[in-house]
Amino acid sequence: MALTAIEIYKLLPQTNCRECGFPTCLAFAMQLAQKKASLDKCPYVSEDAKAALEGSAAPPINLVTIGVGDKALKIGNETVLFRHEETFHHPCGLAVLVPSDLDEASLKQKATRLSELQFDRVGMIVGVDLIALQHVPGSDFRAAATAVAQASNLPLILISDDPAAMAAAASAVADKRPLLYAATAGNFDEMVKIAKEHGLPLAVRSEGIANIADLAAKATAAGVSEIVLDTAPKTPKDMLLHQTAIRRAALLKKNRQVGHPTIVFAVGDTPAAKALNASVAIAKYAGIVVIDFDDPALVLPLVTARLNIYTDPEKPIQVQPGVYAVGAATEESPVLVTTNFSLTYFTVEGDVSASKIPSWIVVVDTKGTSVLTAWAAEEFTAETITKAVNDYDVAGRVKHRTLIIPGGVAVLSGKLEDLSGWKVLVGPRESAGIPAFLKSLPKLAA
Ligand code: SF4
Repeated sequence: MALTAIEIYKLLPQTNCRECGFPTCLAFAMQLAQKKASLDKCPYVSEDAKAALEGSAAPPINLVTIGVGDKALKIGNETVLFRHEETFHHPCGLAVLVPSDLDEASLKQKATRLSELQFDRVGMIVGVDLIALQHVPGSDFRAAATAVAQASNLPLILISDDPAAMAAAASAVADKRPLLYAATAGNFDEMVKIAKEHGLPLAVRSEGIANIADLAAKATAAGVSEIVLDTAPKTPKDMLLHQTAIRRAALLKKNRQVGHPTIVFAVGDTPAAKALNASVAIAKYAGIVVIDFDDPALVLPLVTARLNIYTDPEKPIQVQPGVYAVGAATEESPVLVTTNFSLTYFTVEGDVSASKIPSWIVVVDTKGTSVLTAWAAEEFTAETITKAVNDYDVAGRVKHRTLIIPGGVAVLSGKLEDLSGWKVLVGPRESAGIPAFLKSLPKLAA
């Protein structure tokens, strides 16, 4: 349980020697309480105090790592209920179910397809994170796990309640660090033994919050260090209630028994209903969401929702300022100006592409803000646009001297013409108007 600044202060030497870089022990304690300083800055903390302070500094929700290498998925370690309070740190993993009774070629084909199910969203590559291999009784779970692991470097979830099947599959792919799903009241000892033998994360499943808290505590006491919770909700409403209650209990009540990331299986009568329920789980607060479809039209909204929720609200996603060619831009191509907020840039870039008129886009450094916000903050002005045009040598790329600015900042046109020496055309207010605008544009004079 986290300690208050006063409780931390009582454990410090209270000599105010300043060696930690803070003027007093109390000031240092306040920074420790807010997790803005680390204990090793004080060389005089006693071993007893260190043990007490380090215990209190443990994250309220444990970190769990599934998989290895650059595709490894880290979940948990969240510290806030709402992203605007700080940020959510570890994006929820999206897993797709694959049954183990497919033949080897089909398993490999499916695993490869899931690895390649990726999308470019505002300059970031996002997609499916895990393959959830579900044991179908009678099939060779070990062989299926081996085939999937050979065909894909996505982390695995091994799903089986049968300890014998799980032991066989886990030993075959233990070096891939799969998540074992799941220990229940009925197979608890055997599943814990498999997880401990290979040092693997273990999901525990039991209906409801009280039961899962008990089972998770039992797994912790048995020596399993990385645990994922499944409360086995029967309805989407229960799922939302369980997810919210667990997050609140872990963060607000410091309840260590439920201080673990969660896994949710999206339910619904249709794939669209499942996708809708999956999006609720992504927003509220699943560590992993398992879906049984891989239709890109349904996966894309989910990864987009996740991207929106797990970006840092204090750090807008930005593109590198500069000048970019869209299509085979030439020295006669139009030059449009916009900001470096990724969503703005990629919307403009998409609409310029849709016009099929090769163009240049000058991206002004507005610290990741959109056109009107940047204008209001005086980041998107005649001065900053002129500087960008000069810095990026736009004059060296085109013969004409015409800039197209967003319609929302038409007010800048006069001063921009005076400062830059370029003629200024006012484009549409909305990016969606760019294709029609460019198509109606006369040839730009040199
Ligand atoms: S180094 Fe330790 S003893 Fe010295 S002021 Fe900082 S917290 Fe206090």
